[in-house]
Amino acid sequence: MGRLRIGRAGVVVVAAGVVLAGCGSGQDEADEQKAKLAAAAKASAAAAASQANLLKTRTAAAAKVKANELGQVPVLMYHRVVDKPATQDDRTPKQFRTELERLARENYVPVTAAEFVTGRIDIPAGKHPVVLTFDDSSPSQFELDGVGVPRPNTAVAILQSVAKAHPGFRPVGTFYVTRDMFGKETPEEGAQMLLWLTDKGFDIGNHTRDHLNLRGKEKKAVNAEVAAGHRLITGLIKTPPVTLALPYGNQPDTKEWGLKGSSGDVSYNYGGVFLAGYTPALSPFNKKFDPLGIPRIRSMDKTGDCAKFCSVAWLDWLKANADERYTSDGDAKTIAFPKFKAPFVAKSFSDRVLPY
Ligand SMILES: [Zn+2]
Repeated sequence: MGRLRIGRAGVVVVAAGVVLAGCGSGQDEADEQKAKLAAAAKASAAAAASQANLLKTRTAAAAKVKANELGQVPVLMYHRVVDKPATQDDRTPKQFRTELERLARENYVPVTAAEFVTGRIDIPAGKHPVVLTFDDSSPSQFELDGVGVPRPNTAVAILQSVAKAHPGFRPVGTFYVTRDMFGKETPEEGAQMLLWLTDKGFDIGNHTRDHLNLRGKEKKAVNAEVAAGHRLITGLIKTPPVTLALPYGNQPDTKEWGLKGSSGDVSYNYGGVFLAGYTPALSPFNKKFDPLGIPRIRSMDKTGDCAKFCSVAWLDWLKANADERYTSDGDAKTIAFPKFKAPFVAKSFSDRVLPY
């Protein structure tokens, strides 16, 4: 690495150091080594600087949208979608559409229950996840015509129509099926329904086969009912369920029996077990998140018990308390939150945090 200088007389002279170096090739190598080290140090400093810049850009972006990926998520619970509601669980097609339109307008994006419990919440920056769940596999939720188009006014048709009118509102949700299987009697018809749903990004969850109350039952009976529901699904499609919704929202005497167990040759180990009431759920990245009993919110107007504890009331509350709500930073790999919330990060996710 000779340093050449042009002398006053225009003669090329070699700098003193290089003359010395010329005396032995050992010095040449040492210089070369030194230069290499300097270049490597420079490159690594540049990489660190660009890493720091990237982090700065990401934290600034997270702060700008007030990202809070430790916040609360509404998991909405639907049953039948029918013109003449017969129970407190039923909604009309119009009420269902109105609720979905509200969610789209208020920047919610649906994720499935499986995505939610496993922390795969991949939605744009500034948006809020919502989990749409449908219990009991009623034909009013999902029915196909002969060429595979959802019948008008079913929950699936309404969800697809709202998504079409609101780009970015993903038409996905989770169906907690039982042996009623949308009114289909043969395994082929049942398989056809589940295949259509999973192909479109919907998720199939276990609601047990016979919809029996699991409270007060022995371990063996609980395991058998959950396993039977598991097999009902895996007997029709290859994708096993990732979550369970408890019939009537009733937990077994030992909560763990719903999450994990086996019966005969079926074993299950779920990412989460869902209840039937009454509050928004915590983020799966929050250390207080309890996979043994994830709350859901019944879809209903503000009447009676629902004045405070059903969907319209809770969506009002989340709107008024936006700082408590889950807001995405737009990067599914990171978990962004205002830094003072750090004590609430679940240990298993501590390598993905982006405090700001
Ligand atoms: Zn049910």
